[in-house]
Amino acid sequence: MTDQVDTLFTRIIKREIPAEIVYEDDLCIAINDIAPQAPVHVLLIPKRQIPRLADATESERAILGHLMLVAGDISRQLGVDEAFRLVVNNGADAGQTVFHLHLHILANPKDSKQFSESDTGI
Ligand code: 5GP
Repeated sequence: MTDQVDTLFTRIIKREIPAEIVYEDDLCIAINDIAPQAPVHVLLIPKRQIPRLADATESERAILGHLMLVAGDISRQLGVDEAFRLVVNNGADAGQTVFHLHLHILANPKDSKQFSESDTGI
């Protein structure tokens, strides 16, 4: 973790704010989104505080690759590895509201009636 100002997600990582944790290792944490846009809506967050994807530098190459592999692991853990989407909102105009890089893992398992595909507007 850096000495930057804490974000919502660093506070969740430090357990100052509660969250439903679905995965954690030394480099990242995954939590259920508080306002899910699909039946499966997980946020995968590096513990290193990178504000936006466009701010990532060469030194973050390994963590970015790690996030991709962990996204696959989580999809298998949740049984959605046959069909899921990864979304990164980069910048306020793209809908980013928390300026601590995170991947949205979105899935709509076929047996779920709660949302239709058009509801997953992220
Ligand atoms: P962004 O809009 O930055 O791409 O995504 C931020 C996400 O964080 C949103 O989907 C929003 O629902 C989620 N979020 C905001 N506050 C909280 C919170 O306190 N807990 C959790 N688990 N998710 C949050």
